[in-house]
Amino acid sequence: MQVPLLDVNAQNLPLENELREAFLRVLRSGQFILGPEVEAFEKSIAAWLGAKNAIAVSSGTDALIVALLALDIGPGHEVLCPSFTFFATAGAIARVGATPVFVDSCPVCFNINTQAALHKVTANTKAIIPVHLFGQSADMEGVQRLAEKCNLPVIEDAAQALGARTRDKFCGTIGDFGTFSFFPSKNLGGFGDGGLITTNDPALAQKARLIRVHGMHPRYHHHIIGGNFRFDPLQAALLSVKFPHYPQYTQNRQNNAQTYFNRLLESPKIVQASLTDCQCQKSPQVSSTDEQTASPVIILPCEAPHNTHIWNQFTLRVLHNKRDALKNFLSERQIASEIYYPIPLHQQACFNQLPPHSLTSLSVADQLAKEVLSIPIYPELSSDQLNLVADTILEFVNLG
Ligand SMILES: *Cc1c(COP(=O)(O)O)cnc(C)c1O
Repeated sequence: MQVPLLDVNAQNLPLENELREAFLRVLRSGQFILGPEVEAFEKSIAAWLGAKNAIAVSSGTDALIVALLALDIGPGHEVLCPSFTFFATAGAIARVGATPVFVDSCPVCFNINTQAALHKVTANTKAIIPVHLFGQSADMEGVQRLAEKCNLPVIEDAAQALGARTRDKFCGTIGDFGTFSFFPSKNLGGFGDGGLITTNDPALAQKARLIRVHGMHPRYHHHIIGGNFRFDPLQAALLSVKFPHYPQYTQNRQNNAQTYFNRLLESPKIVQASLTDCQCQKSPQVSSTDEQTASPVIILPCEAPHNTHIWNQFTLRVLHNKRDALKNFLSERQIASEIYYPIPLHQQACFNQLPPHSLTSLSVADQLAKEVLSIPIYPELSSDQLNLVADTILEFVNLG
């Protein structure tokens, strides 16, 4: 039995007939750029999230770029973001000419440490981008407090967190902008690239819509410089077939996570991250030597009680430098796993010219990059597959 990290066909092929109908509808409409299919898709997502506006764009990366452009962020401006995230978060900041300033993360929830963020604010700081990494909300109370204190707009990078909630609000609807991705490995995986922006501010929504089409309104009149950030009706039509199934996909991921907890916590060598160690609002600290020398080999992720985790990834911390050994052990037994992310962004060659305050005090990000390993959690995993993953991890930790 093989266990891949993701099986898009297992999710898409059961919908083949409906997808084919959606394709034919778009084919016969003759409209292949924006239009009613895109508008209907935007409306259904906005209604579900409780966001006043949703603007579908060409990718999750472009969603970030459009949001930054709409906030007039550019050269000379600094934007706070975590170092421990996917490249696009910081890449988008650099692409608009601004400076990413990297902030350390919480080792419990993997999200931005808001106290560390405060220490990195300068007179040039113009925004903060918290990322809801792996499908769990960042500490948005802390982020909002910082944002109010320093008068910073907030762009929530919710690429991995469509439908995740914190204190009964959906991720992406709390800050000035939320950005989402339909890259096939995200929880609502499309059939190519795609993304979405949410905002409750009508003026920002209008500006983002303009930026999506070269800042053009009316035709051939350009008041601001945008780009081609458009979303395809074909993508909208196909995703509209999948969207009604989305709550079930999420439920399956949550059930899979529960199975892992039930099975893996049987072992005394596996513990769950403890919320009392949450560092979202504390000075960042790498794990004490105690934790490193004590018995646990693996720390399981945890869901804060005020959050609903949607488990885009189920990410272990493997201690005692055993991460790569576990990855190999799984791979020899045909179980896929992946390191998200092996090199924190402050260590990337393309960022080595950033000012020093962007590249320092990032010890938790460095530590996580050495410890993390994401195991299969996708909705269509069979219970045999889940149990095989759990059995194999238990076997590994028992080897000592
Ligand atoms: C995937 C991802 C993006 C970028 O989305 P694309 O659609 O691939 O451009 C941005 N931020 C995070 C955290 C992501 O995981």
